[in-house]
Formats: sequence, C-alpha cells, structure tokens
Amino acid sequence: MGREFETVIGLEVHIELLTETKMYCSCKNTFGKKENTVLCPVCAGYPGTLPAVNKRAVELAVRAGLALKCDINRRFKMSRKNYFYPDLPKGYQISQFDAPIGENGFLEIKGKKYPIFDIHLEEDAGKLYGNGIDFNRCGIPLIELVTKPCFNSAAEAVDFLKELRLIMIYSGVSDCRIERGSMRCDVNVSVHRRGEPCGERCELKNVSGFSNVYDGILYEEKRQKTLVKEGKCVFSETRRWDPMKKESVILRSKEKTADYRYFDEPDFSEITLSEDFIEEVFSVLPMLPNKKRLYYESLGIQTQAAEDILIDPRKDRIFNKCVEMKLCGAKILSGLINGIAAEFLNVKSDYLNENNTDEFCLALCKIGRLREKGVISSTAVKLLFENHIASGADIDMLLKELKLEQVSDSDYIEDLVRRVLDENPKSAEDYRKGKTNVLSFLVGRCMKLSEGKSDPVLCREAILNSINDDSIQRGERNLK
Ligand code: ADP
Ligand code: ZN
Ligand code: MG
Repeated sequence: MGREFETVIGLEVHIELLTETKMYCSCKNTFGKKENTVLCPVCAGYPGTLPAVNKRAVELAVRAGLALKCDINRRFKMSRKNYFYPDLPKGYQISQFDAPIGENGFLEIKGKKYPIFDIHLEEDAGKLYGNGIDFNRCGIPLIELVTKPCFNSAAEAVDFLKELRLIMIYSGVSDCRIERGSMRCDVNVSVHRRGEPCGERCELKNVSGFSNVYDGILYEEKRQKTLVKEGKCVFSETRRWDPMKKESVILRSKEKTADYRYFDEPDFSEITLSEDFIEEVFSVLPMLPNKKRLYYESLGIQTQAAEDILIDPRKDRIFNKCVEMKLCGAKILSGLINGIAAEFLNVKSDYLNENNTDEFCLALCKIGRLREKGVISSTAVKLLFENHIASGADIDMLLKELKLEQVSDSDYIEDLVRRVLDENPKSAEDYRKGKTNVLSFLVGRCMKLSEGKSDPVLCREAILNSINDDSIQRGERNLK
C-alpha cells in the first residue's frame, strides 16, 4: 500500500460452539443432515414456545473468553436483537448486548497484541438454499467475537484469524471448519489519508475462508481509495463479497444499533455466574498454541517443524503421545510426524481412532528409535511404516522379518557398490563427464539391491572412492 493512505480493519468473527445440542432447545447440534430434519418448535420459532439456555454453551463461551484474556462478565443475561430476514423464523435473535460474556481481551501474535472488544453468545440462523430455507442451523450456539479496528493490512487480519482458529480448536471451543461455515466473519474496512481521522467503513458480510478475507480487503482498499481520490464519499455500507467475480457488491446501507431495537430477553431472567463456575472452566482450559510453541521449543524442535505440527491438532495429539512414550527424541519424532505420518493421514484421514492411536504412536516411536541409533536407513523407515500399517505387526518383529537392519560393514558395502557399478558401467562414465546427479541414482540402486539395508551415506562414500580410484588408475584427475 502506498504511503498516502492507511487502511483500518476490524473483524467480527462468528464461531459455532462444539456442544451436543442447540442453544435453546434439545435438538442436536449437527451438520450436513437433510434440510429441515433437525428442528423443533423452539428453534423453528413457533410462538408460545419457551427456550432454555444450554449450560455447555455458556461454559464454552466463557472458555473462549478466558483463552482470549477477556474480563468475564459475572452478570449473565441475554437480549433480543430484532430484525427480519427469511432465515430467522422468530424475527429476532436471542443474543447479548449490554453484558457480553467477555470484554477487553486480546490475542497476541509474535509479540503484538490485537485488542478484542467483546465476545458475546448468540444463536445461528438458518440457511437459504436453492429456492428454500433450511432451518437445521437455527439455534446452533455461536459466539461472536468483535475486534477493535486494529489491523492495518490484509495480511495482519488473516494472521489473526489463523491464530484465532487454532486457539478455538485447541481450547475445545469449536472445530472451526471453515468449509462447513463453523467459522466465518464480517470484515470491516476503511481507508483514510495518512494523518487524517479514520474513514467510513464498509462491512463485507459473512466472508468464509482466509483467502476470501485477504482478497476482499485488498479489493475494498482499492475501491475506497479510488473513491477518495476522486473526491467522492465512502458511505457506510454492508456489502457482499463475491469470491468468483472477486468483487464486492452493495447489499444495503449499514444498519445502526438502534435499528435492532435491543431489549432484555424476557424469557430468561438475569443470573450471576459464580466464581466457582468460572474457576472450574478455567481449570479445564487446555494448553493453548503460544504455550505449546514454548513447550516445543524446550523440546528442541525447529520453529517451522513446530508450526507444521500445531496447524494440525491431529499431529499435535500424536506428537505429544509419542513424546510421552520417551522412546526417542522429539526432533526425530517431529520429522516422522510431519513426514510419513502426515502423508499417510492426509490420504487416510479417518484412519486414526481411539483404539489404534496408541499403537500408531508406538510404531512411530520405535521407528524413530531405530533411525536415531542408525540401525535403519531412511528407506527402511518408510518400509517399516508401510508394513506396519498393512499388517499391524510390531516394528521390532518387522525389522527382523524384513531383515531391514542397516549394514554398515565395509566389506558388504564395497561388494554392493562393486556390483552396482558393474551393472551400470555407463553411470561412472557419466559421472566423470560431470553428470553428478547419477550419484543419487547409484546410491538408490545400492539401497534397492540391499533392500534398504545399506547405509546410504556409506554407499555414497564407497561409490565416490571407487570412481576416484578408477580415475587414478586411468591417470585422470581426482574427482570429489
Ligand atoms: P456492527 O455490528 O454494526 O457492525 P460493531 O460495533 O459490532 O458494529 O462492529 C464494529 C466492527 O467494525 C468492529 O470489528 C470494529 O473494529 C470495526 N470498525 C469500527 N470502526 C471502523 C473503521 N473506521 N474502520 C474499520 N473497521 C472499523
Ligand atoms: Zn430445536
Ligand atoms: Mg458488523
């Protein structure tokens, strides 16, 4: 962005809570069921029904507040937010207004604190589809998190969302599955000339996915700057981001708080959240990403490897289980988990369950230990893993059965290299001519011929020695 303008961005993030049931009734909190099959008179908004607050939702909302360092409001009350939209059968949403669950929090990324204005508890609305409306989503518990206008670039806003997503996942508040809409946000963007006050903001409604947030902000920056440069006004508008056309279109001029005619929800009376309740929620708050980063650092694994593990809670769980088994070092484990284990789980995402996770971790640990001690080659690592997955057999047994113990006996290696060079007379020639990549090919042949049992480093050395010896015999210069 040029020097002349500054951008200001604020986010309102909607996050669905991981409860069993909906916010005010006992319908299941589900996703992907046939339209209008998960609803009851309460969530379908029949007149005369009486909602009841889901305690678990309150717990999770408090948990989210604590995870984001908010002051938790001891006063618990709900308010009615009135508006008309076809996906809202009651004609109002039971939300929070003057006493949100949490206020004045922050999220820290790489030493920078982004202030959170508030977190409040509310219910989701239905979903328009084709020519119909699906009310299954009506009443699913949500928190809305509102940041201060604290971001100055699309990248900052997206980094915040990514970190927020991890915090919500690790704290057990939500699964934040963007593709399912369990995390989505409104993006408020304004621009102003440097040194001048903030401009009027436009709000992109219901943007899902990090790249859409990013693209949407860039588009708005550009659109609004053009308006200002032309001496026109930016009006406060609610806009829709079109991810296909990559443009925003106006939906309506921005509503004001007064438009919602908030009032205290008459179906619930105000209650006080006890200190014990909040203490209890705090006591079960799991370890959050920033703390995990420090922990990983203390285990000596590299920063990037730690991030690669953190990004996927499944990997994080396996990693921690493996570390607890204390069979091999954390560094080698991080390599195995980000490598073969991740590759495998990306294809077979439903492989792990409660019954086989320990066994899976034990296999990884045993492989790590063998590799750490130099007993097996990297080729054997893969073979052991694949065979274990296929047969379920114990790693130490497979090692014997497949005779994968790495041989570093020099006579054996020399003999192996001799055979490979005899089989590939042209390769040595090519190498001498400067095609050095034949070296990896020859090492690969050694591994293949020895069925993964030879030490590739030693093979490489032996191949080079052999080629050099031949060259010396032929009176050629020594190649390294
Ligand atoms: P509404 O619900 O009407 O959008 P809120 O006060 O709940 O109003 O949300 C305001 C959001 O807009 C917050 O995320 C805030 O950070 C952001 N915001 C406020 N002023 C600006 C501004 N000048 N530029 C960009 N974002 C802004
Ligand atoms: Zn219901
Ligand atoms: Mg808004």
